Amino acid sequence: MALPGTSSGLHIVHIAAEMAPVAKVGGLADVISGLGKALQKKGNLVEIILPKYDCMQHNQINNLKVLDVVVQSYFEGNMFANKIWTGTVEVNAGLPVYFIEPQHPGKFFWRAQYYGEHDDFKRFSYFSRVALELLYQSGKKVDIIHCHDWQTAFVAPLYWDVYANLGFNSARICFTCHNFEYQGTAPAQDLAYCGLDVEHLDRADRMRDNSHGRINVVKGAIVYSNIVTTVSPTYAQEVRSEGGRGLQDTLKIHSKKFVGILNGIDTDTWNPSTDRFLKVQYSANDLYGKSANKAALRKQLKMSSANASQPLVGCITRLVPQKGVHLIRHAIYKTAELGGQFILLGSSPVPNIQREFEGIADQFQNNNNIRLLLKYDDALSHMIFAASDMFIVPSMFEPCGLTQMIAMRYGSVPVVRKTGGLNDSVFDFDDETIPMELRNGFTFLKADEQGFDSALERAFNYYHRKPEVWKQLVQKDMKIDFSWDTSASQYEDIYQRAAARARAAT
Ligand code: ADP
Repeated sequence: MALPGTSSGLHIVHIAAEMAPVAKVGGLADVISGLGKALQKKGNLVEIILPKYDCMQHNQINNLKVLDVVVQSYFEGNMFANKIWTGTVEVNAGLPVYFIEPQHPGKFFWRAQYYGEHDDFKRFSYFSRVALELLYQSGKKVDIIHCHDWQTAFVAPLYWDVYANLGFNSARICFTCHNFEYQGTAPAQDLAYCGLDVEHLDRADRMRDNSHGRINVVKGAIVYSNIVTTVSPTYAQEVRSEGGRGLQDTLKIHSKKFVGILNGIDTDTWNPSTDRFLKVQYSANDLYGKSANKAALRKQLKMSSANASQPLVGCITRLVPQKGVHLIRHAIYKTAELGGQFILLGSSPVPNIQREFEGIADQFQNNNNIRLLLKYDDALSHMIFAASDMFIVPSMFEPCGLTQMIAMRYGSVPVVRKTGGLNDSVFDFDDETIPMELRNGFTFLKADEQGFDSALERAFNYYHRKPEVWKQLVQKDMKIDFSWDTSASQYEDIYQRAAARARAAT
């Protein structure tokens, strides 16, 4: 797996539970491959460590092979063997990935799903430990170990409390929290599974949760990492108060190492001029393909195609309360009332939300302007971004949000709530306090139906009454640079500073 590093480049290892397109549940997966690839392009040596899930997309991995080593790793008082697989994941030259396959009777990654198992805490603390063990045993001189979300937050305390004592201490730890709603809490004694010292860590200034007696893994990563980031500047502000879900005080204490960096999108994967999922590729200067995709999708979904200029509103999301489920439901009826068409692509891990939307889907079964597709479908998501004229993201909170950026790249104008990363990427078309060249969509602040209606109605008005202005807006949105380039430079910068401090310390 030795890739030639460059003299100035860093050796960066991401340890994560998801990576697009191999193992994707949400935005985290896109970040791992998008950021990883951008860092690689800048001359860094980037490697990724993932669990070897039975349900991952094996066909997206090149040269998948098992290594001729077995890594023994500690768990619950015993040592367990782990097979290590390597492969590269598509994106251009390919990102090198290690896949860990535990030989543990718990069959941790043979569950036919990524998350949602009763023993997730065990599964991912096990994985975090093996990932570090692999790096330790490989003798690699890593500069930055970057862990993500609670599933790999264990890495930070494990590194400093266990591995640094073994002399594996050249690296600095960066932790990114992609969503403070998920913090990974458990009874304190569960920390011991992966070899962490419960007595040492179950303290208010270390890993004990700020409001109950459990331990909190995300808190542990904030305390133990050298760099802590989240995925947009506005969300970084929000989590310093209620948005922090109990971790606001911890973030305030550690504010010097905490920063919000807006995610980018993978502009190779999300490129309407090369996208192989589209019927017709297109670009800002040649929008014919956009209308061709709209016509094709309408046909495919058996929707009315009587009027080519009937606006089509898209929404692609996990259906969870965070995403403003009540406003998504309302948007369906509101779009119908305004004479538009609506396509929802989404699925829910929450059974009563899934059932509720199945009910709405039934209700609109014979309406050829509304389609609810309650599943996960990557290919269809590309078609919806391309076919839609507007795209709604009415989230209650949104750490970054990728769909509004993807939508813009495909010329679908976003209608979003002003929160988190949406506030950092969508600027209201009518807001005269914002320079005209930045205004790219429609926003609302209050998380209620009136707030949403005011934004959607304004979008419909421009679409119907000022088609030339609308077309210019579509073209402007398609040309905005949402690539990882700028954000990856920001990560590179904070990595460099941490690595320089590490060198100065030895
Ligand atoms: P989150 O990470 O909270 O789910 P993001 O907006 O950051 O939200 O990222 C969501 C990603 O998952 C986007 O790439 C989006 O296109 C994709 N996605 C969400 N739901 C679906 C679905 N049902 N089918 C296909 N892709 C989906």
